[in-house]
Formats: sequence, C-alpha cells, structure tokens
Amino acid sequence: MKDLPTERLENQLPDKAPLYSHGEAVTEANRCIYCSDAPCVEACPTGIDIPTFIHKIATDNVKGSARTIFHDNLLGYSCSRVCPVEVLCAGSCVYNHWGRPPIEIGRLQRYATETALARDAELLKRTRKAPTGKKIACIGGGPASLAAAGHLALDGHTVHIYEKRAYAGGLNTTGVAPYKLHAHDSLKEVQMILALGDIELKTGVEIVDGEASDGQVSAQTLLGDYDAIFVGIGLGPDNFLHVEGEDGPGVVGATEYIEQLKLDPEAKLDGIRTAIVVGGGNTAIDVARELAQLGVPEVAMVYRKTEAAMSGYAHEMVGARKDGVRLVENRQPAAVVRDGDRVVGLKVRATDDGASEETIPCDLVALAIGQSRLTQLAAAFGEVELDGKGRVRVDAETNRTGNPKVYAGGDCVNGGKEVVNAAQHGKLAARAITASLGA
Ligand SMILES: Cc1cc2nc3c(=O)[nH]c(=O)nc-3n(C[C@H](O)[C@H](O)[C@H](O)COP(=O)(O)OP(=O)(O)OC[C@H]3O[C@@H](n4cnc5c(N)ncnc54)[C@H](O)[C@@H]3O)c2cc1C
Ligand code: SF4
Repeated sequence: MKDLPTERLENQLPDKAPLYSHGEAVTEANRCIYCSDAPCVEACPTGIDIPTFIHKIATDNVKGSARTIFHDNLLGYSCSRVCPVEVLCAGSCVYNHWGRPPIEIGRLQRYATETALARDAELLKRTRKAPTGKKIACIGGGPASLAAAGHLALDGHTVHIYEKRAYAGGLNTTGVAPYKLHAHDSLKEVQMILALGDIELKTGVEIVDGEASDGQVSAQTLLGDYDAIFVGIGLGPDNFLHVEGEDGPGVVGATEYIEQLKLDPEAKLDGIRTAIVVGGGNTAIDVARELAQLGVPEVAMVYRKTEAAMSGYAHEMVGARKDGVRLVENRQPAAVVRDGDRVVGLKVRATDDGASEETIPCDLVALAIGQSRLTQLAAAFGEVELDGKGRVRVDAETNRTGNPKVYAGGDCVNGGKEVVNAAQHGKLAARAITASLGA
C-alpha cells in the first residue's frame, strides 16, 4: 500500500470526540449499571457485549475490554468513531428513559480499542488457530472484506485481499467525515487487521467479470484458484441528475469529491465562496459539513422534500446547522447555470407548488443523490442472484450467495448502510466459510 501524502485538506479538521483520558473513561464506565437484558447490545448490529467491555474499563482491564469488543467486531476501532451511536447502542441505553445522558458507548469503545492496541499491537494474533491450508479471496478492501479477512485469518486460513484502489479501508479511508475518522487512522486499522494472520493485501488490482488486462484479475481465475470467495465491493460511482449544464467543471459527485478532500494533496477550495449540495441523505450532510468546516463561506443543501422526510440523521443535521449549513427544502434542480465554463448558479424548481423557479447563485454543485451498483461483478461468478435493486442476494445467517463457493457482504448486499453492518456481514461469512471448509 502507498504511503499517504501528509499535506491533505482533511488534516485541517480535528477529531470531533478526542480520546478519553484514563480518568474520564473510568468515570464514564462507572455510570453504567450493567443491565442484564442490556438494550444497547440488542441495538448493536454486531452484538458486542457492551456491559462486559464497559465493566472491564471500570476495573482497569483495558486489554480484556478490547478483546471483548474485537470478539464480535474486528472493526471495533473504526466503529467506535464512525457508528451513529445516537441511533444504535447509546440511543437505546436505559438512561434515555430517565432524562439523563446515555452512556458514551462509542467513546468508551474508542478508549478500549485505541489504548489496548497502542500497548499491544499483537493483542489478538495470539488467539490465531493452526494453519488450515485453505485459501480465500476477498474482493474489495473495505470494512466488509477486512472483517471477513481478519476472522478468516484467525481461523487459520490464508487470505488474499484484492483492492482496486491504492489504499485499503474502503469508505473508511475515502468517504467517512474526517472529524470522525482520518484516512491515516483508517489505514492504522487496516494494518491491525493485516497483522492478525496470513493475509496478503494486493492494492491496485481490480477484479473484473470479463477478460483481465494489466492490473486486473478475472472472476473466473479467482473461482479456480481459491477455496472460497468473499465479495465486498461496496457501491459504484455517484449518480448524476442529467440536467442541462451538468457536464463540466464545478459539478462533482459527492463521494468522489469527498475522496479528493481526504486523500488528494492537490485538492483546493480556493475561489469557492458558495457551494450547493444536492440531496438529503447522510452523504449530503457530510459533504456540506466538510465544506463549511474547511472554510467555504456559504454552504446550502437543496432537498426535493421537507426536512422531516430526509434520510440523513437528525443529529447530523443539527451538527450541520451549527457549522453554518443552510437547508433549502422542496426544491428540485432544473439546470446548472454557467458563464462560459464556470458554474454561476443552480436553477431549482419548487416541488410544493410544482411551478416556480429560481436560480441560487453558487460556484460549486456537489451531487449526493445516491450511488450506482457494481454488482454485475458478483453475478459473473454464476448462480449468484441480484435483487430488483441490484443488490447481491445472500442467506441472512451465512451471507452465502446462490453459488456455494461465493459469499458477499456490506453495501453491495444491503444497498448502503453503516460500517458496523459491513463488519457483521464479514464476520458471518467468515464463520460460515470456516464451517463449510470443515476447518
Ligand atoms: C460519504 C460517506 C460517509 C459515510 N459515513 C459513515 C459513517 O460516518 N459511519 C458509518 O458507519 N458509515 C458511514 N458510511 C457508510 C459506510 O462507509 C459503508 O457502509 C461501509 O464502508 C461499507 O463497507 P463495504 O466494505 O461494503 O464497502 P466499501 O467501504 O465501499 O469498500 C468496498 C471496496 O471495494 C473496492 N472495490 C470495488 N470493486 C472492486 C473490484 N472490482 N476489484 C477490487 N476492489 C474493488 C473499492 O475500491 C472499495 O475499497 C458512509 C458512506 C459514505 C458514502
Ligand atoms: S443500556 Fe446503558 S446502562 Fe445499560 S448496560 Fe447498556 S450502556 Fe450500560
């Protein structure tokens, strides 16, 4: 994997919730009442034993606490920073019913995983089983594949991860808001996973469904070379609006743009005074917040429905407003207005009265209206089915596709959820692969 350039815009954004000190962690841990039917555990897609890991922090057993977390979620470090805890574990903590702040589960999880790994990077390696001689390929180097690879390696298998980009980590590296997780911290987690066992990461290698050329390997070759395959390819490129004036400089796909802000040392925001983000989901909120925090003076989100109908989390929208982002509801883009090459405005049509139009002046339009699917690749393995929305169909218990040798997980299966869901899919698939190989 290439080294990350140090001069990147995302480095201007500090951690939103810095690492707890020892005293803060123990004090917060001691607030937990260790509910026996803990609703926080029920709300965690990976089922981490939350009261147990918190109790271990309270008794100063940080290594034990991290082991409890990693047992159910090998991506427990990034999840502690990126999970929407407000709607998952902490959102269901009993304290919410008593009018008190819920336990800061995410920050405690970060304390346990980050502190334990800093003290002992080989924390989990010692639990690895004897080599089985079985070889598994993971396609994609994002959270789903990393979780699968880590669990498979701990089960004693050889794992090869194929990642088409220069860096692994998937959206943790390229997409997640920097104030939650910087790319260099995501790559730290990748290294932690790679150290778990016999895992080789091949970056800059794309798996293709047809004939392979340089830097590519065909799906058929993988089928022949490996005992099992895990498909964790995520989603495809950003969708576009297909309106007049859209093609050209100044109109960007949100995820591609966020990737530039995070990784590209050449990315600059010079000359951007007003940016418009189109969309009402979490990606729209993220790019709007990032632009505002990086100093763009005017940032507005344009959404075709009302705030109540937005798929983005309410707590993120509260944060966006604090960052100075303005929300324009009930407006649908009709055209991008240019002066020569330069974007000068977005013409929008009202969706509540269906007729009136106005042009909002701007010099950047970021489109966050969903991503396409890459799943034809999975279908190329044969016997793998896609659903009507282009998602890979899997068995919910095992994450196995219709092809007994092929498993899949993460965004390519659920259409785009959270890192923690991808981690759970990877874990389920790894357990099922080990069982199917009789190892
Ligand atoms: C802008 C943005 C912000 C987000 N913020 C959060 C957040 O704060 N918290 C949260 O929990 N979730 C967040 N998510 C969602 C989360 O990032 C995803 O759910 C998660 O990363 C899915 O993991 P994955 O492994 O399925 O896919 P990805 O993370 O997309 O990884 C897939 C990997 O596969 C590679 N790949 C694709 N095709 C091939 C091929 N043919 N050959 C080789 N490699 C290939 C890709 O390059 C990529 O690295 C965010 C998503 C976006 C878009
Ligand atoms: S619900 Fe809250 S108090 Fe109860 S175990 Fe979970 S974190 Fe602790």
